[in-house]
Amino acid sequence: MAADKGETTMFFAWGHQGQRRVFANAGAFQCSHCEKEQPSTVVLDYTVRHLWFLFRWTTDKVWRSVCETCGNIHRLQNPKTFEAGLSKPPIPFIDRRGWLVGLGGAGALVVLLGISAAVDDKNNLTYLHAPHVDDVYTMDFGRDSRNTECPDCQYGAAVVSAVNAEGVYIHPSKKIYNRSSDVPWGASPADYVAGETYFISNAQLLDMHQKGKLMDVRR
Ligand SMILES: [Zn+2]
Repeated sequence: MAADKGETTMFFAWGHQGQRRVFANAGAFQCSHCEKEQPSTVVLDYTVRHLWFLFRWTTDKVWRSVCETCGNIHRLQNPKTFEAGLSKPPIPFIDRRGWLVGLGGAGALVVLLGISAAVDDKNNLTYLHAPHVDDVYTMDFGRDSRNTECPDCQYGAAVVSAVNAEGVYIHPSKKIYNRSSDVPWGASPADYVAGETYFISNAQLLDMHQKGKLMDVRR
């Protein structure tokens, strides 16, 4: 799979993979933008982590509902109720309980699960394939000669404010920097221009990453 990037050492291999399930016709919900009940689509994002492709478990489950009328994205208010109403579990058995299969075979390795989850925590491509709200990108914004304080500065951060099936909406950071490594890691909402929103399509995200214009994803 394209989103998958395993890492290999002498003794074991691990990796992780962003997954998305989409439930169309998910029923009516109260849309805060339309200010009334609207039909919705529910989207479940989760990460499958695996070790040797034998132990598999899931993390980072995020449920969202999308208003089919205005496209507004909300965090799903009652995921447990929604999940209970489905005819089968939302995440395939092998992704949910795969580690049980692994335990039967080689129980001693269970200690490695925690280690691998921590080590492979950062995987930009996986994050770009399944963006989340509040992901922060380090990006090349290009130089702006009107910036008299620092005409050579071109690197900034962008925070993802919304996600839909086509791509992401971002707010750019207020500050730009000389080098991409100067862009700070810890950022707060006040660091971004909330009034400026840009859309980046899924294809553009990957293209910018490949061309070195989007260097880093933090989650
Ligand atoms: Zn709406």
